[in-house]
Amino acid sequence: MSIRIEGIQKRFGDFIALDNLDLSIRSGELTALLGPSGSGKTTLLRIIAGLEQADSGRVHFNEQDITGQHVSERGVGFVFQHYALFKHMTVFDNVAYGLTVKPKKLRPTKAEIDKKVRELLELVQLGWTAERYPAQLSGGQRQRIALARALAVEPKVLLLDEPFGALDAKVRAELRRWLRRLHDEIHITSVFVTHDQEEALEVADRIVVMNKGRIEQEGSPDEVYDKPANPFVYEFLGNV
Ligand code: ADP
Repeated sequence: MSIRIEGIQKRFGDFIALDNLDLSIRSGELTALLGPSGSGKTTLLRIIAGLEQADSGRVHFNEQDITGQHVSERGVGFVFQHYALFKHMTVFDNVAYGLTVKPKKLRPTKAEIDKKVRELLELVQLGWTAERYPAQLSGGQRQRIALARALAVEPKVLLLDEPFGALDAKVRAELRRWLRRLHDEIHITSVFVTHDQEEALEVADRIVVMNKGRIEQEGSPDEVYDKPANPFVYEFLGNV
């Protein structure tokens, strides 16, 4: 699923969070939105997800205009800090959640749900945690379960907001490698937000460098790293 953002403008009061932004994301790629805090990364991700509407501009999925579409119609899976795992549910029930709340007509049978959840838990290599509760898992394991939950509804697009945040360095490194591997396996169009240059350079196929609601540069990690487009990008990548 390709994504095309056209002239997106978003204000919060007088503050311009996204300033007439254009962006194309190719199908099957893993794209990082990279930039300092407050540059508009999360807002852009939320607009792609349909969790937030822009003041003006259009969003296209596979060249189809989906601007006004509600989040539930877009076929996106997301891992946002805001939507953490349900603490009172087992890992199994957390991963099954998206399937059990589908309208009756589209809802898989119990056996189908069971099969799907087991497969997803195998995919994230956490089959053994099915009957546990989130509190019994490590931070990295919880993030992998959150990913399995996002993938349960077979989304066309996967959106991740700081998926490696709030974890210690070793777990972050492990999770990065793991996300890369997962992406290579299932080739789902994915966009993740980070303020960490190293993370973007190591994991992404393409990097979009944002600053003050605008895009400063986009390209492959090598392009962005070897040929920073302007002094901002040069400065920003300076400490890698
Ligand atoms: P980033 O993800 O790059 O840190 P955000 O997209 O979260 O940036 O935020 C961009 C700017 O918009 C920030 O200055 C933030 O304070 C502001 N902002 C985001 N959401 C809201 C909101 N709901 N109300 C007011 N201001 C907001």
